[in-house]
Amino acid sequence: MAVDLLEFPFIGGRPALNFVGTLGKRGSEDIERLRTPEDLTRWGIESGLSKAASATATSVELTASAVELQDARLLREALYGLTMATLGRAPARSTDVALVNEWAAHETHAPALVLRSGALHRDEPESTAAAVLAAVARDGIDLLTGPEAASIRDCEDPTCTLLFVDTSRSHRRRWCSMARCGARAKMRTLRSPG
Ligand SMILES: [Zn+2]
Repeated sequence: MAVDLLEFPFIGGRPALNFVGTLGKRGSEDIERLRTPEDLTRWGIESGLSKAASATATSVELTASAVELQDARLLREALYGLTMATLGRAPARSTDVALVNEWAAHETHAPALVLRSGALHRDEPESTAAAVLAAVARDGIDLLTGPEAASIRDCEDPTCTLLFVDTSRSHRRRWCSMARCGARAKMRTLRSPG
């Protein structure tokens, strides 16, 4: 299982966009980074949305199921569709809206304060995969209806398709990352004559 783990891009600036980015090079290579339930678990942890109770983390609760993996991909594509709609590339679909709403409404445990020997501690159950999906869906709602919606861009590399919120001061960020597509574009410019 340790072989060939695909690195997740976290360049979107928002959990919802980072989640959408788990499918790379859309429409050409379709690089699926959520291939196994373990990938979904790993995304939850790497994104910071999965709060593992450090001392007692057995990761049993945390581990996603095959069904949750399917759910995750469906939610991801709904968020992608709605983001494209926000960018004016396609009409928004009511089925996508319904799916995002369904996950956003998923009941999750709230953190709690615990008083132990006079000191405050934070008590939080381990986040399940479903809780991670709920958090992603809620972020999607915040993003697509909030001020950052106007700053959503996709990478200018035509095959990349990664989405991000352009928080640069000039609002002219062109690439998902300079290291990734920016450098490639620079190379092309240097090579092309004239
Ligand atoms: Zn890119």
